[in-house]
Amino acid sequence: MKEIQELTKKYEELIIKYRRDFHQHPELAYQEKRTAEKVAEVLEGLGMEVKRNVGKTGVVGILSGREKGKVLALRADMDALPIQEETGLAFSSVNKDVMHACGHDMHTAILLGCAHVLTELKEELKGTIKFIFQPAEENNPVGGAPGMIDDGVLENPKVDAMLALHVWPQLQTGTAAIKTGTIMGASDRIFISIKGKSSHGSQPENGIDSVAIASNVVSVLQSIVARNIGPLDAAVISICKIYGGTKYNVIADKVQLEGTVRTVDPDIRNAMPKRIENLIKGVTSAMGGEYAFKYVKGYPPTINDSHMTNLVFRAMQHVLGNDALIAPTSALGGEDFAFFATKVPSAYFWLGCRDRTIPFEEAAPIHNPKFNPDEKALPIGVALMVQAALDFCESSKSLATVI
Ligand SMILES: [Zn+2]
Ligand SMILES: [Zn+2]
Repeated sequence: MKEIQELTKKYEELIIKYRRDFHQHPELAYQEKRTAEKVAEVLEGLGMEVKRNVGKTGVVGILSGREKGKVLALRADMDALPIQEETGLAFSSVNKDVMHACGHDMHTAILLGCAHVLTELKEELKGTIKFIFQPAEENNPVGGAPGMIDDGVLENPKVDAMLALHVWPQLQTGTAAIKTGTIMGASDRIFISIKGKSSHGSQPENGIDSVAIASNVVSVLQSIVARNIGPLDAAVISICKIYGGTKYNVIADKVQLEGTVRTVDPDIRNAMPKRIENLIKGVTSAMGGEYAFKYVKGYPPTINDSHMTNLVFRAMQHVLGNDALIAPTSALGGEDFAFFATKVPSAYFWLGCRDRTIPFEEAAPIHNPKFNPDEKALPIGVALMVQAALDFCESSKSLATVI
């Protein structure tokens, strides 16, 4: 434990340097060429076997310990968002309309920090660590993880378990949180088109008002969450885009709606397309219109394996003491780590990154042009990942269930 802290301290400055460099040069999904090359160079410099262009722009480094054992993969996402930065930081993005507003610069730097520390601890390591630097996490509904899986990232050597983290401004620096089961919800999209018939605005009896139909559809869809899903199950249906009509006195013949469906429970998710379509069908036909409906599945829920969750929570307690938290609820943002978690037992946790002097209401959230995570979270993220990795490699013995 002391050794991990000392090593983390030793590399802290370098990790911050990596983070600022990635922050200043953000790249969108599948354009992470500079980032990937930097990552590959660092891993090669550490003497690792490195694979480039895995899942297009992904990079993988393999670190073999002194003894053969289990294989643990640690994953960081590398892509940025199409947002113009407004933080005013000295190392602000030099790429117009591109910003690391989701903290993936922090994740990439933390994982490089883990690569440095675990390389130093190689002689104590019983097993293999795979460092997975993934592209295109923000590329919902496809994501970057499936491409890496198709390119065999979970094979040769076969991955036994996986860990990942996300910086979390809701939590103060120095804390981290995890929970068993679903930690991030499924993120799906819906597209609805309502067809009516135009007429003069003063003669509704001669037309079929698609705006009126659409209004009812928007309202009635909320009844699914309110009336068809148990009050303790989380789900959201939001219609976020609606457009139709041409003029103030022409009854619109067509309205398009788009929205998102977020769920935690896979069964509830699977029931959504039919339930939503039934309501659209009922309202539309009752009012004399027609409809088209498309439900596009995005990222599945990210489901934490209970054994891996216990392992991470124990590592958190070692490193953070009472600041190791059990997350009270899932978040409904989609996360494409979910694709890995459906293949191998995995754990995904939230790393507090809000400066302790900044109140929650004043901290910019992720995906905001002012998002500015606390860099003090960087060495904490490294210490947590490294502790969990070493514990995993040692854990032939079964773990006591703590959560
Ligand atoms: Zn994001
Ligand atoms: Zn993110």
